[in-house]
Amino acid sequence: MSHHPITLEELKTRLPLPELLLRLGLFDYVPVVGTYRCPLHEEKHGASFSIFRKDHSWLWKCHGACGIGGDEVALIAREHECSRKEAIRWYSLLAGVQFPEAVALHQRATPSHTPRQHRPGEVAFPKDLSLGSREDLQTVADLRRVDFWAVATMQQNGVLAFGTVCGERCWIVLDQARLCGEARRMNGAAFATGAKVHTLRGSDKSWPVGLLLPRDLTSHFQKFLLVEGSGDLVAAYHWALRFGQDCLPIALLGAGIKRIHPRALNHLHGKNVRIVPQDDPAGLGAVESWQLQLRQAGCTVYIFQITQITLPDGRKGKDLNDTTTLEPEVYGKLEELFYGNNR
Ligand SMILES: [Zn+2]
Repeated sequence: MSHHPITLEELKTRLPLPELLLRLGLFDYVPVVGTYRCPLHEEKHGASFSIFRKDHSWLWKCHGACGIGGDEVALIAREHECSRKEAIRWYSLLAGVQFPEAVALHQRATPSHTPRQHRPGEVAFPKDLSLGSREDLQTVADLRRVDFWAVATMQQNGVLAFGTVCGERCWIVLDQARLCGEARRMNGAAFATGAKVHTLRGSDKSWPVGLLLPRDLTSHFQKFLLVEGSGDLVAAYHWALRFGQDCLPIALLGAGIKRIHPRALNHLHGKNVRIVPQDDPAGLGAVESWQLQLRQAGCTVYIFQITQITLPDGRKGKDLNDTTTLEPEVYGKLEELFYGNNR
């Protein structure tokens, strides 16, 4: 079966510049009219970046320190410090085109540079990624013992999707940044590797999943609830639905993550971040370094000790997920999480 080679024009139709800027996480809204703070260089005060239509194409230009502009491919090449050839490869992946079909695009290739470690678009999201059915949402709600509407809200926020990973049907946490994704099986069982959680290949775990929402929604939130892992992210949505509609749950996917993505820190600048660490040495250690970076980014940080909550069997809570079946016994304590002072 022969493939019709995709032209660059077709790629640009599939993933035009405004959408590409969103997909790369460079903007969280479509920057169509006006000039903006350039996402490609450090720009504290100015607004040097604009996009515009020319003939049938989109172009961008930074009139500031970058002093360059161009098409979608030029943007990716700049963002990833790679050649035009490499950039076309990433562009075609982002646009959902298999690389071999896009081979014909490489006319203007220049020598390749050393590739960066992580690149958006490299994340191996399943080909059958979908929003899922009502039954899928109910399955996750039952599995995680949370309110159906918590799960439905995640789906609406683009933070929950479904697909086949390692041959198993999974629920997957992700967000608009597309930098990171984590899958768990629908039946709650482990994968063949023995792990219950599968981080999608190519994920940049320094990105807090759930942070970048569609339609510029993230910027409306003043409070963020930062938890560790996809299980606690679901639990955080459960409680946010009860107590804090103005509080957006986000999750770093592992205690081993020491550095928070600088673009994520930009989104969180000046905001109120409540952290619920998992109560183990790794979890508590991670929170120390997260807290420091968030404070440096101008955040007000409040840490909530889950061990304040006693489970019915007398144990102390270990993670937020332990608490979802305890309502209303834990309401008093959790109110402190959502409304408490910031000391
Ligand atoms: Zn610039």
